[in-house]
Amino acid sequence: MADPVLTFTDRGIYCPSGDFFIDPWRPVDRALITHGHSDHARWGHRRYLATHQALPVIRHRLGDIDAQGIGYGEPLRIGGVTVSFHPAGHVPGSAQIAVERDGEIWVVSGDYKVEPDGLAEAFAPVRCHAFISECTFGLPVFRWRPQAQVMADITRWWAANAAEGRTSILGAYSFGKAQRLMAGWTRSAPS
Ligand SMILES: [Zn+2]
Repeated sequence: MADPVLTFTDRGIYCPSGDFFIDPWRPVDRALITHGHSDHARWGHRRYLATHQALPVIRHRLGDIDAQGIGYGEPLRIGGVTVSFHPAGHVPGSAQIAVERDGEIWVVSGDYKVEPDGLAEAFAPVRCHAFISECTFGLPVFRWRPQAQVMADITRWWAANAAEGRTSILGAYSFGKAQRLMAGWTRSAPS
C-alpha cells in the first residue's frame, strides 16, 4: 500500500511526497498555513504559503517572514503533489488545503464554518478521498442559532440600552470575530 498522502508528526500534519507541513506547531522548512489565527500561523518557519487574502494578517502578526501568496483554487505543484487552497468560511483569507497525489485527494479543513457570515469567503466543499477536520466545537453541546437571530438579539439589546441612554459595549476577538460582529450588526441595525 502506498504511503498516506498526509501523516501526523510531532511538528504537525506532514506531507512526505511534498516535504511540507500544514499549520505546524514547531518550526519547519516549509509551512502551508490555513489562516492567520495564532494557533495556526506560528512564528519560526523558513517559508510560508497562504492565500493572498490571509497574508497581510499573517505578516502583521509575524513580522518579516518569507511568504508566498496563492489564489483560491489555484493549483501549485510541490514535489510529488499538487496543492490548492479553498474557502473555509472561517475568517477572511481562511482556507481548506487540498493535497492531490496521483488522483488521490486529501483535504485539511483548518478552522471552518459552513454558514456564510457575509465577511469571510463562503465555505466551498471540496470532493476528496480523506478529510481531516478541525472540530473545536464538535461536541453536541454546541448548538449554534442562526447568525441572523443572534444579530437581531444584539440589535434589540442595543436599542433598549440606547432608549435608556446607556452605552453598549461588546467584546470580541481582534481578528475575525470583531469584524464579523461589525459587519453583521451593521446589516441588522436600524438606520
Ligand atoms: Zn481560527
